[in-house]
Amino acid sequence: MGVRSGTDYLEGLRKSARDVWVGGERVANVADHRAFAAVARQLAALYDMQQNPLYADRLTGTDPETGERCGISFLEARSVDDIRRRREGMRLWAEASFGLLGRSPDFMNATLLALWESRDFFAQDGGHFAGHLDAYYRFVRENDLFLSHALVTPQNDRTKASHELGDLHLRVTGEVEGGIIMNGARMIATLGPVADEILMYNLPGLKAGDEDHAVIFAIPADAPGLRQICREPYTLDGSRTSFDHPLSTRFEENDALLVFKDVFVPWERIFCYRNVKAAAEMYPRTSIRNHTAYQTNIRALVKMQLATGLAMSVARATGSDTFLHVQQMLGECIGFVEHLKSGLARAEAEAERLASGTWRPALAPLHNLRIMMAKAYPRVIEVLQTIGAGGFMLMPSGADFGVSELADDTGKYYCGVNVSSLDRVRLFKLAWDLAGEAFGQRLVQYERYYAGDPIRNLAGVYLAVDDTDYRRLVDAALALAGDPDGEAQQVECAA
Ligand SMILES: Cc1cc2nc3c(=O)[nH]c(=O)nc-3n(C[C@H](O)[C@H](O)[C@H](O)COP(=O)(O)OP(=O)(O)OC[C@H]3O[C@@H](n4cnc5c(N)ncnc54)[C@H](O)[C@@H]3O)c2cc1C
Repeated sequence: MGVRSGTDYLEGLRKSARDVWVGGERVANVADHRAFAAVARQLAALYDMQQNPLYADRLTGTDPETGERCGISFLEARSVDDIRRRREGMRLWAEASFGLLGRSPDFMNATLLALWESRDFFAQDGGHFAGHLDAYYRFVRENDLFLSHALVTPQNDRTKASHELGDLHLRVTGEVEGGIIMNGARMIATLGPVADEILMYNLPGLKAGDEDHAVIFAIPADAPGLRQICREPYTLDGSRTSFDHPLSTRFEENDALLVFKDVFVPWERIFCYRNVKAAAEMYPRTSIRNHTAYQTNIRALVKMQLATGLAMSVARATGSDTFLHVQQMLGECIGFVEHLKSGLARAEAEAERLASGTWRPALAPLHNLRIMMAKAYPRVIEVLQTIGAGGFMLMPSGADFGVSELADDTGKYYCGVNVSSLDRVRLFKLAWDLAGEAFGQRLVQYERYYAGDPIRNLAGVYLAVDDTDYRRLVDAALALAGDPDGEAQQVECAA
C-alpha cells in the first residue's frame, strides 16, 4: 500500500468494531465521536502530509523491498545523513502539532524499527520469534499502520511483583491451538482508542516468577476481548470553542486502561514468550532507547519552543519583559531549548554504526535530555504561569466579543503593550490552554512520566555510569596531597 492518506486512516477506524468506553458510553465509531474526532483528524492530517508534494520528500523514503514510498521513521539509517533525514521528517510532524502529540505515529514506528533492526535478539528462544518480528514490521510499514502501546502495570500495589497480585496484571492464561490467551490489565495506552494496532512489551522490572507476564506481542486494536476504558476527556461536552481553547480542542491525546478478557494472540504475533530476562534485556540490547529518545527529543524541542515563545510573548504583551527577574526566567527557558538542540546534535555527531551496517543516534545525550525534560518542561510552564499571573483569570470568553453591549469594554480594557484587546485575549487564552487547563496539566504530567519514573531514571544514570574519567581526575587530585608528613607531589594528569 505505501503511505496512507488521512482518509484511509479515518475509514479504517470507522470500519473497526472496537470495545472503547468513555464517560460511561461505549463508542461505536471513534473516528466521529466528540471525545476522539479532533485528535483523529490531527493524525489524519499527519498522514495527508506524507502525500503532500510540499513535504513528501522529507516525510517519506523508498521502501527498499517493495520500491514503494513509506514513512521515513520506518526506515533504517545507513549513514549519519540518513539519521538527520529522519530528524527532519520527525520535526515536520512535530511542528504540525506544536510538539503536543507525544505519541504521534513516528514514536511507535521508531520503536518497531528498533526491534526489527535487532531481530536476532528475539531469536534466542527460537528463530521463529525473529521471523514473526520481521513479518510484523513489514506488515506495519507496508500498510502504514498506527500503533499504540501499554507497558506499565496498573498501580494496584507497587510493593508486590505482578505474579503476587492474582489476576490483576496482564499475563498469559493458556495456550490454545494457534496461539495463546491473555487476561488482565495494563496502563496507559495513549491514543489506544484511535490506534490500528497495539504493541505490548514490558517496562523493565519484572521479577523471577513473573514469567507469565513477560510476553511481547501485537494485536489489532479491535481484537475480540480487548477493552479500552478512557480517562475523562477534557473536551467531551462539545461546548469548548477554538478561540477559547485553541490547543485542547485539537491536540488532546486520550489515554486508556487496556483490559484483556480472553484475548487470543496468534503465535505469529508473539515476539518473546514467558522470558523475564529477554523482556528486560530488550532495552540495552536493541536500539529502542536510541530511536525513541531521538524522536521524543525532536518533538520536545518543538514543544519547548512553543512554551518558551508563549512566555516571551506574554511578557512582551504586558511589558514585564523589561524587568530583570523576568528576563532571567526567560533566559532559563531559552537555556533548556539550547540544551535540547545541543543534545540532538551530539547524538548525531556521536552516532554509532552497528555490525549490521545500520546507524543509530548516541543514547547518552538523548537519555539525559529526556530526564532533563521531566524538570525543564514543568519549569517552563511555571515561568509562563508566573509571568501571566492574574491576567490568565481576567480573560473573557470569545463569545463576549460578539456582544454589542460589551463592545466598548472588550475592545478597550484588555489591550497591552502594542497589542489590541482582541489579540491580547487571544494570546493569553492560548497560553492558558497550555499552562493552566487540565489539558495543559496532562502535558506536564506527560513530560514527567512518559519515559518512566524520573527518579529511578536518574538513579539509573548513576548506577550505569562509566566513571573512568571521574576516577582518573579524582585520583590525580588526591595525589597532590602527598603523604601526611611528606612533600606534596606534582602529578601529571593522564590524558
Ligand atoms: C500522560 C501520560 C501518558 C502516558 N502514555 C503512556 C503510553 O502511551 N504507554 C505506556 O506504556 N505508558 C504511558 N505512560 C505511563 C508511564 O510510562 C508511567 O506513568 C511511568 O512509567 C511511571 O509509572 P507509574 O505512573 O506507574 O508510576 P509509579 O511507578 O507507580 O510511581 C509513582 C511514584 O511512586 C514511586 N515508586 C513506585 N514504585 C517504586 C519503586 N519500586 N521504587 C521506588 N519508587 C517507586 C515513584 O518514584 C513515583 O514517585 C503515560 C504516562 C502519562 C503521565
